[in-house]
Amino acid sequence: MDAAKNALAAKGNPTPALDARLLLQQAAGLGHETLIADPQRPVAPEAAARFREFLERRLAGEPVARILGEREFYGRAFRITPATLDPRPDTETLIEATLSFMPREDACRIIDLGTGSGIIGVTLLAERPEARAVMTDISADALAVAQDNARRHGVLARARFAEGSWFAGTEGPFDLVLSNPPYIPQAILQTLAPEVRNFDPESALVAGADGLQAYREIAKVAGPHLAPDGRVIVEIGEGQALDIEHIFKTSGFAPAGRWQDLARHVRCLGFSHA
Ligand code: GLN
Repeated sequence: MDAAKNALAAKGNPTPALDARLLLQQAAGLGHETLIADPQRPVAPEAAARFREFLERRLAGEPVARILGEREFYGRAFRITPATLDPRPDTETLIEATLSFMPREDACRIIDLGTGSGIIGVTLLAERPEARAVMTDISADALAVAQDNARRHGVLARARFAEGSWFAGTEGPFDLVLSNPPYIPQAILQTLAPEVRNFDPESALVAGADGLQAYREIAKVAGPHLAPDGRVIVEIGEGQALDIEHIFKTSGFAPAGRWQDLARHVRCLGFSHA
């Protein structure tokens, strides 16, 4: 464990002790308490081999969450795979914004477009016991992960899954249309950190030359699926607010809210029928 810590630190890893511990716990199937109570506990040769393999992947730049196959989001653990985006804490801004439109007792109908690992739909169902959600994705593999996460958090009975682009194969109307779509311009991809560029699926990151393609597509088709008093709430990239408000305005929507993330960037936009 100490050797692993040192190897990670030498690579400039900012959290070598934490990373080494999480990888060892996973490799040996041990909890944090066990490791603390008995730090000198010998590990089986298979576990040691697994730990070495995990360590090498981490040293090669793979994020810990990818190696563990799990990421915590809004206080819950979600399974992730190479088919899904590794959820970002920024997306918790979208959860907070959306919950403000979901009274606890209401049977809200929501749709999560491009659900990936299902963090948005599953979290909202877990937070609001009467809500129902449709989650869509063009990736069947991602959808299987979302379904798994819905089961894991006990909300499967209130969830539906549709494979396809945006609203394909779904029936509305929906009170809340939600998405954290890809929003990176194609040319920027190569400048992203290797942890992102090499491990998140490109289709979950990139949306055309200017990064706005997904918003154009969603704005174009969302109208008929949105209930009369419904809201569209989308996550956006830094500096995209004005352009995206313009896109939605020209498709018959009116701006209905802006929400900032912890770094004070506008991270989510809300829209209603104009
Ligand atoms: N909705 C998922 C998330 O927020 C996936 C988003 C995506 O792949 N762009 O993590």
